[in-house]
Parts: sequence; C-alpha cells; structure tokens
Amino acid sequence: MPKYIFVTGGVVSSVGKGITTAALGRILKSRGLSVSIQKLDPYLNVDPGTMSPYQHGEVFVTDDGSETDLDLGHYERFLDDNLTSTSSVTTGQIYETVLGKERRGDYLGGTIQPIPHVTNEIKSCIRAVGRESGAEVVLIEVGGTVGDIEGQPFLEAIRQMRKEEGRNGTASIHVTLLPYLGASGELKTKPTQHSVRELRSMGIQPDVIICRSDRPVADELKAKISLFCDVEREGVIPLLTMPSIYEVPLVLEEANLGDYVVDILQLEAAERDLDDWRHLVDRLQHPTGEVTIAIVGKYVELHDAYISVRESLTHAGIHHNQKVTIRWIHSERLEHGDVSALAGVDGIVVPGGFGERGFEGKLQAAHVARTQGIPYLGLCLGLQVMVVEAARNLLGHKDANSSEFAPETSHAVISLLSEQEGVTQKGATMRLGAYPCELVPGTRAHQAYGVAEVEERHRHRYEFNNAYREALAGIGIVASGLSPDGQLVEICENTGHPFMVATQFHPEFRSRPLRPHPLFRDFVGAVIDRKAKELGSTAITVPADISGAVAGGGS
Ligand code: GLN
Repeated sequence: MPKYIFVTGGVVSSVGKGITTAALGRILKSRGLSVSIQKLDPYLNVDPGTMSPYQHGEVFVTDDGSETDLDLGHYERFLDDNLTSTSSVTTGQIYETVLGKERRGDYLGGTIQPIPHVTNEIKSCIRAVGRESGAEVVLIEVGGTVGDIEGQPFLEAIRQMRKEEGRNGTASIHVTLLPYLGASGELKTKPTQHSVRELRSMGIQPDVIICRSDRPVADELKAKISLFCDVEREGVIPLLTMPSIYEVPLVLEEANLGDYVVDILQLEAAERDLDDWRHLVDRLQHPTGEVTIAIVGKYVELHDAYISVRESLTHAGIHHNQKVTIRWIHSERLEHGDVSALAGVDGIVVPGGFGERGFEGKLQAAHVARTQGIPYLGLCLGLQVMVVEAARNLLGHKDANSSEFAPETSHAVISLLSEQEGVTQKGATMRLGAYPCELVPGTRAHQAYGVAEVEERHRHRYEFNNAYREALAGIGIVASGLSPDGQLVEICENTGHPFMVATQFHPEFRSRPLRPHPLFRDFVGAVIDRKAKELGSTAITVPADISGAVAGGGS
C-alpha cells in the first residue's frame, strides 16, 4: 500500500509548493524509496494545453503526450523520472469524468453531488498514481491556496483519504509564507496561523509547516508557530529563499524533513544519501566561467513560459562548470532589422511558439547566428525558423515561410503533412508526446547523443516539408534526425556552422540536473569554445560528464 503525502499552500500563491514537493520527492528517493508525484489543479480547464502562457506559464509535455502543469517539469527534474498523464489532474477533468458517467447512466439515476461523487472521483485519481506507478510514496500537491473556493473538493477528498488510509498512511504538509514587515523589522506568523486555521476548518491538521521566508527564522518564531498551529517543533521547517531551486532538497534535508516524514509514515527507508545532489549544487555554486545565452521568444517578460529551456541551460552549464546567464530578448524587438539586442551574446536559443507574432524577429536571430557563427539551438518553432531563414536567404525563396503563418506562400518549407501529401482537409491534430527519432550517422546530433535512436517529446502541428529536403541539404542544412520511416525530419543542422542544430521536438522536457540533455550540453559546449576563441585564450576544458549517462531520450 503506498503512503500519501499531501502538500497544500497558504498565505500567497507562488510560495514554492511545487519546488518543495519536488525536493521532498528527491529526499525520499535518495533514501531508496520509490516515489511518484501528482499535481491537483483546481481550475476548470481540462488541461493547460489551451491556456495562454501569460496565464499559465509553460505547458509541460509528458512522454505519453499529456499537456500538463509546469510543476510536473520540476517533479521530473528533481525525481529524475518520467511521469504520465495520471500525475496531472484538474477540476475540469474530474467534472468531465463525473458528467460522462452521469450521461452514461452509471449513477443509476442518483443525484450527483460534490460529495461523494466529485470527491470519490478525486480520491480515485489520487489512488491511481499509487497503483499505476507502484511507488511506495505518492506526493500530491494541491494547486492554489487553502481557502480558494475551487480547491474545496480537493481538500475534502484529502480529509476523507486521511481517515481511510489510517494513522500512518498519510502526512500533511502545509507551505506558507512568513512576510517581513520592514517598519517593525520582523517576520510575521499571523498569516500562517490563519492559513492553518483555514486548513483545520476543512478537517486537515498539518503534520509539517514549511515556512518560506526571505530572512532567517528565529527559534522563538518556530516555537510560536508550533504552539499556535499545534504542530511539533521538528515539524516547523523554515525555508529561506535560495539562490537556486536545486539547493532546496539540501536545505530541507538539513532541517531533517526526510527523517520526520519517514517517521510519521513509518517507512522503511535507507540512510540518507544526497551526495550526488550535493556535488551538483557544489558545481552550481562554483562556476569557473560565465556565458551569456539569448532566449529569443514571444513571452520573454514571463520567464515561466520557458522554464524547462532555462533549466536545461542551467543543467548544461553545471556540466561545464559555467554560469549560464540568460538574456531574454523579445523577438518583436528584432523585427525591423535592429539586432543590437543580440550584441555580445555567446549563443542563441529560439524556443517553441505558436502564432505569427514575433516570427520575423526570430528569423533575424537565426540569421545573425548563421552569418556570425554564433551557436544556435532551435527548439520546435526554432527549427522551423532556422529552415525558413535558410530557404529565404540561401535558396533565394524570398517568400519562404511556414504555412502556419502564410498559407498562400509559394514556398511552404514548413507545412502540415496533409498539405505535403496533397490532402486539402485541415484539422491535423498536434503531434504530442514521445516519438522515436533515428540519428543520422556522422552528424552533430548523432555525436551528441552517442546512440542510434532516441525518443523525444513533441508538441506541434507543422513539419519540415520534404519537398525541400534535397535543396536544403545542398546548401548544408541537413536532416540529422528522422522518424524511423524516414518521413519526418526531427532534427536538422547546418553543416557549415560551428553549432547550428534544431529539433522539431522539445529536448528541454527531458533534461535533468544530473543528466543534462546531450544537445543542450553540446550547445553550451560550443558556446564556451566560441567564447574562448573570441577571447583568444585556449579552449576551456570540458570536464567529463558528471554522471556519464545520456539524459535526452536514450531509448
Ligand atoms: N507552431 C509550430 C507548430 O505548430 C511550432 C510549435 C512549437 O514550437 N511547439 O508546428
């Protein structure tokens, strides 16, 4: 029987629940326990796939092709495991299932109510993770903050589960914020007290309170929280805002969260062993150099929209002992030929995107990268950008475009497969989730992965148009990764460039702190080499892979 740990949040949103949950997952895994994590999102959307990045940040795609909350990215990165659609549940999905059952007559004419029908469905989704993953411990993070109207059915389901699973079957962790009042010079516990009171009014007594704060939390304050919230002293754990999210497992372990939870749940756990993680954080904290990489996108003011890309660059930086500084560049800024925003960058990433806005600016970025020999990594739309730029400027097809943006163009170098096959009917659905990709021997991509075939995650509609494959290869833009039937170009690269590689898939979803993705790793490697040459010094030596393993989809 798996044990369940419920993580709720109080006081404010964005308090770090996702990272805390992921970090605790890592801590438990480091004790030899098998762990899985689930996110319960209280909104009514069925999934975040159709939500604006402004509202929701990145849409994280799992191997099985579900479009999920960005917290799943944190879970996968910290746990170093692949999760599935079961790990992402929204109120929209719960209601969809309940209403579907009602329409089918499954409830035999009963009156359908939040309790028990909705709560039963929630409990069944939570237990499904335990069943399907076979994990000994399942962590469940509830989105939003305690007190939100839409979160109530989830809390009620948790209350019921706590009773059903018995005394040592579950643990409850509440993550709050201790705000600092400048005028009186102190951290305040009152919002935490109120939040815990709210949680208790729903019938849930927390076992642990994690107090996020920007300043050290004195022992008297911990004692006060313990007394007022009826939580053991060891259960009150301060979590200072850290320079890097990867430090959080170490901080929480230092505060004995692992021991405490293992004790509550009466788990049979091995000794703590976070050595690999400590080593990782040590490298992160002591870089031997720094590179600046531009991310040229449409939502750059909102860094959450590219969170996996940013983390993948960080992982690659850790591998090379380099601090990676990101310069966020709004692609519209580059649109009219003024590319000064790119001055001094050591590498350029064009991430995924939908819609035409900013596309011309991304083409400018690819042009600068190609003509100035600046390492370029294109991710999904970033591949399409690289191909359109080459078709326009090297093949001379001035109107080359993606049929997503210019349906009437005479040179749709990126198009829907159906268009390539002469099928006029629209409505191609998105290619979502993991697909195999065979690497073409002798290419950079092949060299990076070091294996013949990988699996990588997709989320797009449009594809490289095969009609242009030969012409593009003729000017050095070659396919270096193909679907096993050879029909889909999954990776392409510029053979005459130090590093210009782009993927139709999203490698950023598979990079892990301890196993940087090979393409990000080699991209940052190329960035370092170029910088070293620019500085006229000898190339910075690249240390051996810290784990020796291949992250990116070694299948
Ligand atoms: N808009 C492009 C497509 O649908 C690229 C999508 C993406 O970058 N994720 O093919």
